[in-house]
Amino acid sequence: MPTSPLQFENVTHAYGQVASVQNINLTVEHGEFVALIGPSGSGKSTLVKVAAGLEQPTSGQIYLNGSRAGKRLGQTAYMPQSNALLPWRTVIENVVLGLEFTGQRNRETLNRARELLAQFGLAGFEDVYPAQLSGGMQQRAAFLRTFMMERPLVLLDEPLSALDAITRAEIQDWLLGVWRHFNYTIVMVTHDVHEAVYMADRVVVLSARPGKIVRTVEVGLARPRERTNPAFHRYVAELMAAITV
Ligand code: ADP
Ligand code: MG
Repeated sequence: MPTSPLQFENVTHAYGQVASVQNINLTVEHGEFVALIGPSGSGKSTLVKVAAGLEQPTSGQIYLNGSRAGKRLGQTAYMPQSNALLPWRTVIENVVLGLEFTGQRNRETLNRARELLAQFGLAGFEDVYPAQLSGGMQQRAAFLRTFMMERPLVLLDEPLSALDAITRAEIQDWLLGVWRHFNYTIVMVTHDVHEAVYMADRVVVLSARPGKIVRTVEVGLARPRERTNPAFHRYVAELMAAITV
């Protein structure tokens, strides 16, 4: 019996007649950082939605912590693609939004949110509106909303795509720090091969639709990684070659 945080066993999914992903076999280990890359429409978002329980496979099995997980909704921390903060809510009110849905908003979780806001570099910004934050700060608040769910398995769908290059590099390092500090298991979708090589332990490549796993690459580079290192570029080149549009 597998006990890894997430396992796909021969998972196939379709939207009606449109096959999205096919025969996915993937096991994510405790504390691992897995990046999922592939061309647009290859089923990356679908795969994390299936893991989060927002979509059901047409065949195959999903295991969370070794258990066959029929009802997965709420068991993972899932951050959807283009996860915007609500502009009419203050930062703290945005951060506890997910907890409201699960009925976990109370004095204790609000205090915890305030504590974590400080750890996330947002001390003093609890009661302002998102528009008053920089892009990087907004994104850290959106991450905190996801992490507030306190689920050890974190599913992130292109969380950094909207950031400018400099902020993005900064948030990549910040997110790696959070991952280490809280010992999360992360599956992160990205369309950026450099980002995948910079951040992940393992990079999984999906083919064009219907997405099948065509390549899995362990990134054997010590952190912090040097983007200018020739070995870094060899990984990038290897992954680029595996992506077929
Ligand atoms: P990616 O995230 O890799 O860009 P998606 O998982 O969003 O890919 O989509 C995979 C395929 O499924 C695409 O071809 C897309 O057009 C299709 N698709 C996605 N969502 C739906 C939907 N709700 N209904 C029908 N087809 C969809
Ligand atoms: Mg997507």
